[in-house]
Amino acid sequence: MVQEHENIVGLDAAILMSPKVWEASGHLEAFSDPLVECKKCHHRFRADHVEGTVCPDCGGELTEAKQFNLMVETYLGVVEGEKLKTYLRGEITQGVHVNFKQVVDSTRVKIPFGIAQVGKAFRNEITPSGFTFRSREFEQMELQFYITPSEEEGNKWIEYWKAKRKRWYMDLGMHEDHLRFREHAPDERAHYARAAYDVEFRVPGEGDGWKEMEGIHNRGDWDVGRHAKFSGKDLTYFDEEKKERFIPWVIETSGGVDRATLFFLMDAYVEEEIPSKSKIEGEENNEKETRIVLKLHPKLAPYKAAVFPLLANKPDLVEKAQIIRGELAKQWMIAFDARGNIGKRYRAQDEIGTPFCITVDFDSLKDDMVTVRDRDTMEQERIKISELKNYLAERLK
Ligand code: ATP
Repeated sequence: MVQEHENIVGLDAAILMSPKVWEASGHLEAFSDPLVECKKCHHRFRADHVEGTVCPDCGGELTEAKQFNLMVETYLGVVEGEKLKTYLRGEITQGVHVNFKQVVDSTRVKIPFGIAQVGKAFRNEITPSGFTFRSREFEQMELQFYITPSEEEGNKWIEYWKAKRKRWYMDLGMHEDHLRFREHAPDERAHYARAAYDVEFRVPGEGDGWKEMEGIHNRGDWDVGRHAKFSGKDLTYFDEEKKERFIPWVIETSGGVDRATLFFLMDAYVEEEIPSKSKIEGEENNEKETRIVLKLHPKLAPYKAAVFPLLANKPDLVEKAQIIRGELAKQWMIAFDARGNIGKRYRAQDEIGTPFCITVDFDSLKDDMVTVRDRDTMEQERIKISELKNYLAERLK
């Protein structure tokens, strides 16, 4: 999003800011979820996550919904009684908008341009759940894209970023039929949002289990306009060509890193039936075994390759394997494993999605070649050690 776009800059804004920022953005007033409590077992739920008026845990009666603010409070300062109450950021977005003027004045960006950021956000979620789907401390990845204020520009850029973001997930291996856009109903939208879509992922095994992964919104001039008002500063942008001054509109793409990671893992998880290798070689057998393999895109795989010495108790093999690992590790994350037999090591790497396994055997000591095994096809090739870097570079693209 930053490196490949000339008109987008990166930013690392503060987590702790003046509480006025959150007043301006509307978070103190309206960043809340509807909370209901069971009158019998006192469990608490988000009203929009329970169907009906009875407790999903014990069947007891639920209270009326009341709004519960999600901002996490903290206190700054050294003198008791004079400490300033502020908040851990509930979204990374506002740190970008309060730096909008700074970026315009200190870099050479011209509208349309974007500021992208990755960082932690904190929310006092009523029901953290679903592994990393919903937690109280999580990572967001966002783009705030500033445009000339007009419906036409707004519509053009929201379609542009919808298409780009879908491509981004697909280029990292997500299946197209597991992705969709859902347009927000008018009563779901924030009052300032001129258009709002969720990028949703279809969670397997959950029936119609479409879940939000990212939001793409046209926020109009709400954010910059409000920060200008609350800070008393002129945050307008001057368009040199048109000789016009205005508060820009913002198209935002706001994704969850933890949530997307969970969905990438689900999307890549495969159980395959393969012929059993456990029988004595040469013997006819129709037995099958299940191979668990994480078909992660190489860019997302935590290890790009693993290096094994054929046998752990042969120092020559171990040493050569370590040298190869050390050389490749200058460029990529490379695992090393000498435990158990080769078959078990392959299975272990398959389960964490390592695209290639490299084995050093007795022939390697003579011919300086190794066996490279491909995670997905399970095919093996003999490759010259001196060619390994090129071989991997080509295939990890
Ligand atoms: P939800 O309706 O699921 O609570 P939201 O609409 O409030 O989410 P946004 O404020 O639009 O979420 O945040 C943008 C993205 O940040 C979401 O699409 C999601 O991927 C991620 N996100 C939001 N809240 C959490 C959380 N508690 N834990 C993990 N990721 C989250």
